[in-house]
Amino acid sequence: MKIFVVNAGSSSLKYQLIDMDNEQMLAKGVCERIGAGGAIQHKAADGRTYHAEVEMPTHSEAFQQVVYALTKSEASVISSLDEIAAIGHRVVQGGSLFSKSVLVDESVIEKIESLNELAPLHNPAHVLGIRACIRAFGEKTPQAVVFDTAFHQTMEQKVYMYALPYEYYEKYGVRRYGAHGTSHRFVSDRCADLMGKPKKDLKIITCHLGNGCSITAIKNGVCYDTSMGFTPLDGMMMGTRSGALDPSVLTFIAEKENMTPHDISELCNKRSGALGISGLSNDNRDLAEAAAAGNRRAQLALDMQRYQIVKFIGAYAAAMNGLDAIVFTGGIGENNPDLREKICNEISCFGMACDENTNHLRGKEVRISTADSKVAVYVIPTNEELVIARDTLALISK
Ligand code: ADP
Repeated sequence: MKIFVVNAGSSSLKYQLIDMDNEQMLAKGVCERIGAGGAIQHKAADGRTYHAEVEMPTHSEAFQQVVYALTKSEASVISSLDEIAAIGHRVVQGGSLFSKSVLVDESVIEKIESLNELAPLHNPAHVLGIRACIRAFGEKTPQAVVFDTAFHQTMEQKVYMYALPYEYYEKYGVRRYGAHGTSHRFVSDRCADLMGKPKKDLKIITCHLGNGCSITAIKNGVCYDTSMGFTPLDGMMMGTRSGALDPSVLTFIAEKENMTPHDISELCNKRSGALGISGLSNDNRDLAEAAAAGNRRAQLALDMQRYQIVKFIGAYAAAMNGLDAIVFTGGIGENNPDLREKICNEISCFGMACDENTNHLRGKEVRISTADSKVAVYVIPTNEELVIARDTLALISK
């Protein structure tokens, strides 16, 4: 049985086709510049590729190209859309309305739209993607939605509230929602499997470190706390995002530089983080290279990033009153042995010891702590598309 996974953005559309009989990806691709030109890059698992520059005024034309790539191009992997049993969509913001994945119907689409204000760059684009998908695949192919926020809906109110007047929570839904939930769920489940222990007996901290970074405390199999907040800007510093700040810093800078709320949002989301500190790059590889060559600000960005991770781990170990395992995932978490080793050394007070025989591996699922380490440490490559496909399959099998 084949499931098609879609991640629709405002001007892009990423997709994967997954064969659920063996959970192997058959093809993946991306349409870019939707609404301003259009291009598709498609790749079959066996290495064949298809690329085309085609006008894509809307997501509907993009899906027509995807259908062509999947069924007729030189990198086709199926002979007809009938082979696709269902479609799963990634949705960034499910607010307090969705605590698990659901099948799409009109009321679900309306609820996703009702959350547009909480994710103005994402939710409207997801709805465009869902509607275009219905047009491309027809009404009879079931579609499901899988929310980045759903895993975090188990947080207690004392954890998710901001200490602002309560009316803003009631009127506007201002609270912590978190993000990357699909990834945190996948790697924490996998961590419990690897440890051979039931999730309900474990306290795990998962560090998803990519361009966006979030850290989650998972107690007894459910999310207890997470670093991203009302939006993905909260928590630790990231590639271009500031992470948490004293809010007074922003009112101070806004007055000094005569900035609007929009300017401030742009500043914190796009010009801050590792890029803002280093003045060089948001990319971890560039920073490591520059730091090795003696660039002080690149080194500072790396030191700040690591310090903030350590601080979150410490805070979450205290919040859960214990810690059994730490998981690293995301582009940085999976590929940066130096960072992982330093973190383990800097919190050796928890009885954590890094194993140099395994920590040097990159992008592989591996335990990187020594056999006698009190806290197990794993690298687990994330696979959000597979979770979306599994949830979609489970929903249509019900
Ligand atoms: P996104 O959050 O956009 O999905 P990724 O999870 O792909 O991003 O992570 C991107 C980050 O991972 C970048 O900072 C990049 O430098 C880092 N990264 C990717 N590969 C490596 C590598 N081999 N060594 C060190 N860092 C890497």
